[in-house]
Amino acid sequence: MFKALVVEKDEDSGKTSAGVKQLDLADLPDGDVTVAVEYSTVNYKDGLCIGPGGGLVRSYPHVPGIDFAGTVEASDDERYSPGDKVVLTGWRVGEAHWGGYSQKARVKADWLVPLPRGLDTRQAMAVGTAGFTAMLAVMALEDHGMEPGHGPVLVTGAAGGVGSVATAILASLGYEVAGVTGRPETAEYLKGLGATQIVPREEINELVKRPLESETWAGCVDAVGGPMLARVLGQMKYGASVAAVGLAGGPQLPATVIPFLLRGVNLLGIDSVMQPFDNRLRAWQRIARDLPMDKLEAMIRPATLEDLSALGADILKGQVQGRVVVDLS
Ligand code: NDP
Repeated sequence: MFKALVVEKDEDSGKTSAGVKQLDLADLPDGDVTVAVEYSTVNYKDGLCIGPGGGLVRSYPHVPGIDFAGTVEASDDERYSPGDKVVLTGWRVGEAHWGGYSQKARVKADWLVPLPRGLDTRQAMAVGTAGFTAMLAVMALEDHGMEPGHGPVLVTGAAGGVGSVATAILASLGYEVAGVTGRPETAEYLKGLGATQIVPREEINELVKRPLESETWAGCVDAVGGPMLARVLGQMKYGASVAAVGLAGGPQLPATVIPFLLRGVNLLGIDSVMQPFDNRLRAWQRIARDLPMDKLEAMIRPATLEDLSALGADILKGQVQGRVVVDLS
């Protein structure tokens, strides 16, 4: 028997409720590899899946948790053996498939990535989907010509999970980082991660009035979308790129095409869920190399399975700072 957070749905009222339950190995879904989960984390999607589902959960009862790290316990796939350390993000695990809020998980071998040397399972989940996606964003910006020394790089939603890890990685790679935050009280935290400039959210969250403003940013990791992304496009330097990661400020993009046409600005889409294996491996290896572990440690807020209902509600309100690490051991 082992513990898991199980979400159930009352068929009459349609309401869902989450609680910690004891499960048996036989309860787990089919898969090639059974993992003893050591750590998981809390993402925006987890907030939805712990709560009413947001249209993501396929069937109930459901075990949420879109990412986890742990040790292989049993494997029918030759790529993995008992004792191997693994990490999983994406592939709709925790949404369409049972996820990581459980001391045991059974998944497809194709979805796993061997933990790179230099990262333990706790650190891997301090990074989590948010940090993995931040690394994908930095890699995409670099692939499109971003280099240190060309000017400040903007990170929006800076005190959140994606933003915190992006700030730490960029600063450690030698970029000058400007963090946009709606929480002025996080300024010291962001400076500790390496941001040298704090931009108040209200300064940059208004609808576009002029399609082009002064050329300011040499790159941008955008976790917010909405009017903020539209404004940022008009503030990019000539030929610079924005990596669109999230929609914490809304899914609309009330922008003009002028920054693309007159300044050659690039808008790069970042998806972490269906990312091919080779790029996943490359991103995890870069994380182990480029993310300073003392900075990662400063972002961690520890939690247990029992804390998840409250944390799920907090992240939906944009009230979680840094990276929550859920200890399942
Ligand atoms: P968090 O909730 O940790 O961070 C989001 C941050 O955005 C908040 O901390 C806040 O930062 C800012 N924010 C919140 N609401 C608003 C608002 N209304 N207007 C402007 N800023 C706001 O989430 P994550 O960092 O985990 O994820 C960020 C986004 O990225 C989410 O939309 C998530 O769904 C998406 N995502 C996408 C992935 C992909 O594969 N593309 C993978 C992972 C996440 P502050 O307080 O500093 O202003």
